[in-house]
Amino acid sequence: MLTHAMWVHGHQVRVENPERMAQVWRAGFFARLVGRPSTTNWLHLPVPTPVIVDDKRQMVHSALVRLRTGSPRAKITNVHVFDGTRRIAAYDGLSLSPSAFGMERFDVPGRPDVWEGLGVTLGVRFDGTTNAENTIEIASAGVDLTLVQTIRLHVKTLTAPTRFTIDQMIAAMRQVYEPAGIRVVRASDQTLNLPALDIVDIGECNMGQTPTAEQTTLYGNRNSAGANDVVVYFVRATNPPTNGCAAHPAGRPGAVVASGASRWTLAHEVGHVLGLRHVTPTDRLMMGGGTNNITNPPPDLVGTEVTTMLASALTQGP
Ligand SMILES: [Zn+2]
Repeated sequence: MLTHAMWVHGHQVRVENPERMAQVWRAGFFARLVGRPSTTNWLHLPVPTPVIVDDKRQMVHSALVRLRTGSPRAKITNVHVFDGTRRIAAYDGLSLSPSAFGMERFDVPGRPDVWEGLGVTLGVRFDGTTNAENTIEIASAGVDLTLVQTIRLHVKTLTAPTRFTIDQMIAAMRQVYEPAGIRVVRASDQTLNLPALDIVDIGECNMGQTPTAEQTTLYGNRNSAGANDVVVYFVRATNPPTNGCAAHPAGRPGAVVASGASRWTLAHEVGHVLGLRHVTPTDRLMMGGGTNNITNPPPDLVGTEVTTMLASALTQGP
């Protein structure tokens, strides 16, 4: 989900080495830059940057530029994105010379927090011999921002899983959740010595069911977890047997994960805790046919699912 899109007009462009330019013309339409033959240069576009909005620090999603060149002999060779002094994305070895204005998007990997002002820097190269060939016209540049939302996960282990480690399951969960703008924080770890609950009765495991006595007892172990934190109990097995179950007593958000769980069980069960329901396609995280049978991993979350997750009180601002 994108929370903000910030743009700047192309005539804000700054040329790093103006002596290598034959001409710089700023007009209402665009900035027209004509490079001297056989030169390279750097062009900088500062983008107005909302860093914190409604008490929430934004994350950088991608940078965009709209430009065209007079010929294939004037080209964009690099696109770098800066946050203050820090370079947060670098695309090198490019050879962009669109003949018409179009939008070029450059993903910022890892969706870093934004701390200062964002800038889009273009490396350019002019290999033509005439001014017309060596022309680049910049219409605008922009940055898409997204919001930091966090799930705080508390790990409580009765029996450690056997097929995949908890680390592997959390890594798999991050692989699915983080591209959706949801960070997974492992807030605490605790070993629970509760042998009577190690094979936990889960009843029908429906959302909204009356919890079994064992679920009520198990989910009472929240310790330091805040009201909107998710507590995951790793148990030997469930009764009846399944990979995991997200049914939980009201006000105690959490899930159980059985020791034979798949790589994706944790991510799937927490998806239920955040309000997601089963779907049919087997390449989706929430497919109802068992996460062992997920095809084409990592499994997908679709836009409506991400909207539901972000609307949950359990996805929290920083
Ligand atoms: Zn399920």
